[in-house]
Amino acid sequence: MILAVASGKGGTGKTSVACALAIALDRPMTFLDCDVEGANAHLFLRPAMHSREEVFVPCPMIDADRCDACGRCVKECQFGAMIQLGKKVKLMANLCHGCGVCRLVCPRTAITMTGRPVGIMHSGTAGPIRFYCGELRTGEALSVPIIRKIKEQRGDLVIIDCPPGTSCPAVESVEGSDFALLVTEPTPFGEHDLRGMITVCRRLGVPCGVVINRSSGDDAIIESLCGAEGVSILMRIPFDRKVAEAYAKGGTLLEAMPGIKDQLLDMFLDIERLCR
Ligand code: SF4
Ligand code: SF4
Repeated sequence: MILAVASGKGGTGKTSVACALAIALDRPMTFLDCDVEGANAHLFLRPAMHSREEVFVPCPMIDADRCDACGRCVKECQFGAMIQLGKKVKLMANLCHGCGVCRLVCPRTAITMTGRPVGIMHSGTAGPIRFYCGELRTGEALSVPIIRKIKEQRGDLVIIDCPPGTSCPAVESVEGSDFALLVTEPTPFGEHDLRGMITVCRRLGVPCGVVINRSSGDDAIIESLCGAEGVSILMRIPFDRKVAEAYAKGGTLLEAMPGIKDQLLDMFLDIERLCR
């Protein structure tokens, strides 16, 4: 099973829930931290890291001797990554998505594709957990190729800690999952962004359920949305100072609330049932 743990906004406790679930399950699994712009699952799972692999995207290289500055590549690049400066054409590498269209349209075969490093995939182990995370190069905007690389890692059970939001990195992380666990909080912002994430899951054809974090006992705003959308609320985590204190010391949700382990395991059984 591939289980994506996602949220429409940052700061909902998504990573805490994903890590607490992985620790509670205590069985062989693959954990993918796809939040490559702010990876922090390693702080909770504390894996021993043992390898790193550079991630590249295709990148055009212009042979100045062959190029006659016809401007076709500038005109056809949908990302504005090629610019013309008089008789020269220049690549803005940070805008390039590596699609290769410029090479295809060049009438003088002046363009060849090479590789541009965009980040690193790290891997390690934490007990029975095979752990992978990504690191985006400083100043680099393309996180999706690193997420794709991390998602090549397989296993019978895969938990994906997705980037927050509903933009390309989040969509790439959730796509292809068997189930998406959407972590939210009972606030207007939480409700708004959960609505967006439910829409993303629908469009991707990924069934989803909700965890309400920092529940104060009055979760009407989220209950109302989930009722209208026909999405199950699978678990509630109470708003408790102990959790913040545990996080401040680098502790996990399970260390703050040991009793929550059974709830996490029950929720996982519910997810397995919903996936059948
Ligand atoms: S590879 Fe694609 S994105 Fe990059 S410069 Fe060429 S056309 Fe533009
Ligand atoms: S399409 Fe080819 S020849 Fe024309 S400007 Fe681009 S690199 Fe130069």
